[in-house]
Amino acid sequence: MDQQRLNVHVAKAQPSATYRMMDRVATRRASGVKIISLSAGEPDFDTPAHVCDAAVAAIRAGHTRYTQVAGMRALREAVAAKFQRENGLNVGWQDTLVCSGGKQVIYNALAATLNEGDEVIVPAPYWVSYPEMVQLCGARPIIVACGSDSGFKLTPQALAGAIGPRTRWVILNSPSNPTGAVYTRGELAELAEVLLAHPHVLVLSDDIYEHLIFDGATYHTIAQVEPRLTSRTLTMNGVSKAYAMTGWRIGFGTGPRWLLDAMEKLQGQQTSGASSISQYAALAALTGPQQFISESREVFEKRRDLMVQWLNETPGLTCATPGGAFYAFASCAGLIGCTTPAGTLLKTDEDVAGALLDEANVAVVQGSAFGLAPYIRIAYALDDEALVQACRAIKRFCKSLSGEHYVNAQ
Ligand code: GLU
Repeated sequence: MDQQRLNVHVAKAQPSATYRMMDRVATRRASGVKIISLSAGEPDFDTPAHVCDAAVAAIRAGHTRYTQVAGMRALREAVAAKFQRENGLNVGWQDTLVCSGGKQVIYNALAATLNEGDEVIVPAPYWVSYPEMVQLCGARPIIVACGSDSGFKLTPQALAGAIGPRTRWVILNSPSNPTGAVYTRGELAELAEVLLAHPHVLVLSDDIYEHLIFDGATYHTIAQVEPRLTSRTLTMNGVSKAYAMTGWRIGFGTGPRWLLDAMEKLQGQQTSGASSISQYAALAALTGPQQFISESREVFEKRRDLMVQWLNETPGLTCATPGGAFYAFASCAGLIGCTTPAGTLLKTDEDVAGALLDEANVAVVQGSAFGLAPYIRIAYALDDEALVQACRAIKRFCKSLSGEHYVNAQ
């Protein structure tokens, strides 16, 4: 009997590439090296003071016990009000579910619905966890390549070509992690048109970066654009990115009751309700003053401009201007084949990310982890001074490379 025999899906799963890079940064820092990290996808701001105060007040008031599995009624009402107010979705509190982070909303939904042999359409570049979660649930991620020519977005033709009889879900994410691509209302309407012809397909809309949308654009989510999809769409969101609350672990979703019921059943046997204190904090975030959202959007938009300009001025890198989130997804094709001063031959984007960490003390995540190479994902969630320092270090590193291919690329 093999004592260490694992579940086959767990054995096959890859650890999260974003967390792996964050761990490498922590290890390097612990050994005294100063690293500028552009790896973690989380706002660098503090959680707004009134939110922290609400959490402290909840502790003092003794709100330290279990809540209902699906979340406290007051928070579910606030979540329903958010979906009505910001997304035009006609939902009541019973149509919502609160989970321990956005990740749990997605995982619950997939685990509650997928069987062996089912397929989930995942447009690439994708957030690292989508295909792994699908695989962990025993299903097959169907990766659809969406390159720079389509703005890293899924086209109706590509969607139609990927749907088959076993398709259970399609995952949409706008603004996108890792590219920052934002779907327009028209683009979502075109995708919806395809989906209407395939009633067996469920839609998972990951809206976690909803509020980080630039250039005066208006945000749209697919259930709002095409209400006929509402009965088979899970719209998910959370407080992590909008209110700088990544560590509080509160995500939520709205969708058909049969799905939410199954997700709640699963959660009730697993983690139960999310942290009571975090739920009080999320309630304060959703119902309190909202100016934090527009203030942080402005800051991120300025940083985006700074970052994209630097990247495009750096030899070997090119970067399209992202419409949202806080990621720049830069092609590093011009660096492949070069050799670093320490003698490392850069064969892949993973080599580029590794060398940037080892030789320039800057952490980024390789595009291959997100399903498109050779790219690097840069999370510009740092103050301007640190960003400029990081950009200088990246540029210096790129200029220090040698190789015929690189010289030609300049
Ligand atoms: N979503 C963030 C990122 O992509 C957090 C880390 C994770 O969960 O992958 O960096």
